[in-house]
Amino acid sequence: MAKSIAIDGPAGAGKSTIARQVAQELGFIYVDTGAMYRAMALYMLKEGIGADESEKIVSSCKKADITIRHENNEQVVYLNGDNVNGLIRTEEVGNMTSAISVNKEVREKLVELQQKLAEATDVVMDGRDIGTVVLPNADLKVYLTASSRVRAERRYKELVAKKVECNLEEIEKDIIDRDYRDMNRDISPLKQADDAILLDSSDMTILEVKDKIIELYKGI
Ligand code: C5P
Repeated sequence: MAKSIAIDGPAGAGKSTIARQVAQELGFIYVDTGAMYRAMALYMLKEGIGADESEKIVSSCKKADITIRHENNEQVVYLNGDNVNGLIRTEEVGNMTSAISVNKEVREKLVELQQKLAEATDVVMDGRDIGTVVLPNADLKVYLTASSRVRAERRYKELVAKKVECNLEEIEKDIIDRDYRDMNRDISPLKQADDAILLDSSDMTILEVKDKIIELYKGI
C-alpha cells in the first residue's frame, strides 16, 4: 500500500516548503492541494463569478477540469489544459480560494482527485483537511502552525524580496480573516486531527521542522 504523510495547518505556516523537502528526502511525491483550490478559484475569477454567487460556483466547478502532473520534481496544475502554476499565487486568487473552498461540490471534486493521487504513489500532501478528511489513514499526520504575526512577517519578507509593495498590518489582517473562514466553514473546516502531531514553527527554522517530521516518520 502507498505511504502517506498529511500536513495541515493555516496559511503561511511553511507547509509547502517543508512538505516539498520532506517528500524529496523520502522519495515521495509532494501534493499541494491548495494549488488545486487556487486553480478552481482562478477559473471562477476568469468567468467573472463573485465569491458569494454559490449557485454559479456549483455549476461552473463542473466545467473546470483540473489535473496534476509532476514534471522535473515540481507539481504542475493544469486548468482546462493550461499550465496555471504562474497565475495562482496572487493575493486576489488566495482570497477568492478561501471563499469558494467552503463549497461542498468544489471540495468533493478535488478530494476525489487527491485520494486518487495518494492511492497510486507515496505522498506528502499538504492542505487544510488532509488528516481529517482526505487521508484519514495517513501513516503520519502533522498539524503545522505558527503565530499570525510570524506568518505575516514571513509573507511580508517574501513580497518585499519580489519588490511587491505591501503592508505588514494588512497582510496579518488577511491571514487572520482567511484562518477564520477556513476554521469556521461547515464542511471540512481546518482543524487538528485527533491523531495529528502539533508542531508550532514560530521559533523553528525550516530545517528544524523538516528534520522533526522525518524523525517522526522514521519513528512510526
Ligand atoms: O495552502 P494555500 O494557501 O495555497 O490554500 C489556499 C486556500 O485553499 C486556503 O486558504 C483554503 O481556503 C483552501 N484549501 C482548502 N483545503 C485544502 C487546501 C486549501 O480549503 N486542502
